Amino acid sequence: MAVARPGLAPEAWSALVLRGAFLWLLGVSLGLLSERERRRRREMVQLNRDLTEQRERIKEVVETMQDGVIVLDQEGKVTHWNRALEERYGVKREEVLGRDLLDAFPALREEGFPAFLEQVYAGQAGAVTLERFAHRTLRRGDAILNLKGTAMRDLRGEVQGALITVEDITERVGLEKAVQQTEKMAAIGTLSAGLAHEINNPIGIIASRVECMLLEADEQGLSQTVRDDLKVIGKHADRVARITQGLLSFSRQQAWRLSPVDVNTVVEAALVLVEKQLAREQVTLEQDLTPGLPAVLGSANHLEQVVLNLLTNAREAMPEGGRLQVATRRQGRSVEVEVTDTGKGIPAEHLSKVFDPFFTTKEKGTGLGLAISYGIVRDHRGTLTARSREGVGTTFVVALPVAGER
Ligand code: ADP
Ligand code: MG
Repeated sequence: MAVARPGLAPEAWSALVLRGAFLWLLGVSLGLLSERERRRRREMVQLNRDLTEQRERIKEVVETMQDGVIVLDQEGKVTHWNRALEERYGVKREEVLGRDLLDAFPALREEGFPAFLEQVYAGQAGAVTLERFAHRTLRRGDAILNLKGTAMRDLRGEVQGALITVEDITERVGLEKAVQQTEKMAAIGTLSAGLAHEINNPIGIIASRVECMLLEADEQGLSQTVRDDLKVIGKHADRVARITQGLLSFSRQQAWRLSPVDVNTVVEAALVLVEKQLAREQVTLEQDLTPGLPAVLGSANHLEQVVLNLLTNAREAMPEGGRLQVATRRQGRSVEVEVTDTGKGIPAEHLSKVFDPFFTTKEKGTGLGLAISYGIVRDHRGTLTARSREGVGTTFVVALPVAGER
């Protein structure tokens, strides 16, 4: 500067130096500031990346969870619907995202779900649980669910939405029911045996006394009303006696002898008893009995009763006529009898109940035919199963182990 401005006074010099120093300091601090700014920005970007990564990871966990996960916003609109839900219930997330959960699944309203949801939004500490919630799904039939709901809050503690996890226990409950069914059958067997013994004698006495009274009423010329009443009593006493007999055979307390039985002979004997009636009711009979089947060990009389029950039910399912197919065959270590009808079928919700004692859909039914048959087949270490389609028909299969092979 001295070279450029040789004539400068010393005061001007010091002022210049001061100004220069000031400018330099300003530059340095500005540089420092922008460096800090840059570092902060880098940190922010990193933080953001971490957050996104974390969010992705959480999303991945939610997506791969076996349980269903639903997230709702403040108004009950769906903001998340995970893969488990898509797969199990066949509902894509595009169909539900942004929609009110209750509108998307109207069945929920009648099933008492809104009360659960209200409780979740009330925001109590911890999760609200709803166990064994019976739900008719949109596309996959009935399901039984365990639900857990938690209120989601923002930093100020305000409820912002709800997180609901859905555990599907339909299958487990089904298994439990099968076990219960076996236990129930055993319990009812014991109970009904006692009951039947108790009722058998008195009802026999009532029936025979009513017979006597009817004769006396005739002899003494009693009024028609009295005789009609006696007849009604007699009819109902007979019905009670029949039910008692049924209970006795269901509980299998009657003694029987095991001997080798030819299943085809059993089927033919039962068919003889229904053939005429079938023809009268426009039911065509198709038989496909495999010759030379191995014998099963059992009681021919009881097995005939089983087949007769199945044939009777099949006939009763086809009041307008139809086709009845009866087949026997060897299947692995068993001999099978299959009875198929083209009747009205059994609704899915009844299929598990038809073997229950007293389950009947018929005005004059006892609901004991299949329960007794089930008991008899079980005592032969066999299985009795049903499959049916409403409006198409029904098939019952009796499978009995071949003698000496098990
Ligand atoms: P019941 O014949 O006295 O009603 P069962 O134990 O024999 O009692 O049968 C129970 C119920 O199962 C019937 O009332 C009926 O609803 C159903 N069922 C049984 N067999 C058939 C069939 N072949 N087709 C349609 N429904 C059937
Ligand atoms: Mg029946």
